[in-house]
Amino acid sequence: MERPRFKPRAVMEMAIKAMQHSIAESRNDDKSSPKVGAVLVKPDASPPDTAYRGEIRDGDHAEFTLLERKNRDKKLDGSVLFTTLEPCAPGARSERKLSCAERIVLARIKEVWVGIEDPDPKVDRKGIKYLQEQGVTVQMLNDDQRAGWRFLATQPAISKADYVNAMGYDDRKAQRHLKQFVELGLLRRVGGGKATTYEVVR
Ligand SMILES: [Zn+2]
Repeated sequence: MERPRFKPRAVMEMAIKAMQHSIAESRNDDKSSPKVGAVLVKPDASPPDTAYRGEIRDGDHAEFTLLERKNRDKKLDGSVLFTTLEPCAPGARSERKLSCAERIVLARIKEVWVGIEDPDPKVDRKGIKYLQEQGVTVQMLNDDQRAGWRFLATQPAISKADYVNAMGYDDRKAQRHLKQFVELGLLRRVGGGKATTYEVVR
């Protein structure tokens, strides 16, 4: 099977653009659900499909929307999926619902690009691990970015200086990471100038 040709960065940017349209799930607690965007690159060189959380129905995950609502009857073998956030793991949804990680495997998608792992420590990368166990190649941010994100996800709010001190990255690298995390919808900027801090979006 021929692997589709694509530029990972450009496709992830498409996923991020889709993500920005996400519609928050109505929940009983005061937390907001993270925005998520997903893109499917098909081997037949047709234009990539995009989806975002809640696009067709309230509460539907982006990957579910993409695979089950937009491509239900299509063969997706050889397609590559991009998602801004780690797909949910088996058991994460209510009992009757399959997780997105399971749907990806059932769709016979063999390569998934993940913007970032789920910041919830309870998730513990279960979605990523499940995909890998099922033989799916998972492509991620580089190790430094992931290490930075694992640290940030435990912080209520942080300045760039705090991030530099904690991780030992130089100023430019820290700035690049923080900007990328904001673009991925993981952090929100609070304040401006020297007083800028970053909060994890939950
Ligand atoms: Zn999901």
